[in-house]
Amino acid sequence: MPGGGFMKIIFDLDDTLYSSKELREKREKRILEFLGNRSKEFLELRKSNTTIGSLSKLGINKETFFKIIEEVPINLDKDEKLREILKDLKERGRLIVLSNISYSCVKKSLEQLGIIDLIDKFYGGDNFLTSKPSEEIFSIVEKGDICVGNNFNKDLLIPKKKGAVTILISEKNNPDSDFTIKSIYDIEKII
Ligand SMILES: [Mg+2]
Repeated sequence: MPGGGFMKIIFDLDDTLYSSKELREKREKRILEFLGNRSKEFLELRKSNTTIGSLSKLGINKETFFKIIEEVPINLDKDEKLREILKDLKERGRLIVLSNISYSCVKKSLEQLGIIDLIDKFYGGDNFLTSKPSEEIFSIVEKGDICVGNNFNKDLLIPKKKGAVTILISEKNNPDSDFTIKSIYDIEKII
C-alpha cells in the first residue's frame, strides 16, 4: 500500500462512511412522491443508472434533486468508532469526501457523525457541473490514492482506471475492485 502523508483517501459518503436504512428509505419515498406517475419509469431507469442519472433522463436536473433531498431531515448518530478509524487513517493521507448529494447535506452528515474536523476537504454534487461517475468528479484522483465506495461503477471504476487502489464496501464480492469489505469498520484490516 502507498505510504507517506500526501496521498489521498477519497471516500463516498452515503452507504460508505455511514449506512442508514431509514434515511435511504425516506429519501427514496420523497423522490417517488415528487415523481408521482413517473415513479415506475424512474425505478426502471435506475436499474442501470444512478439516481441523478435516472432523474436527468426524466428531465429533472440535479438542483431539483438537491431540493427534494434537502427536504428530508438528516438524523445521524455520532460515530466514535468511525472517528477513531479516521484518526488513524489521517496519519497516512489526506481524507477527502466526494458525494453526489448537495454540499449542505454532506456538511450536515459529517457534522452529525462527529467527523467533520477530521476531513481535509469535502465536495457535494453542487461543486461540479456533472455527477458521479463522470471524469470531472474524479479529476482530483491520482495514482496511488485510495478510493472507497459502495458502488463500483459509480465510485470506483474511474479511480481504478487512474491507478488508485479501490476498496468496495459491499456484502457481495466484486472481482473488479482491489478489495471488498462489508463495512467501513473493516478498512484497517486491509490498509
Ligand atoms: Mg454511496
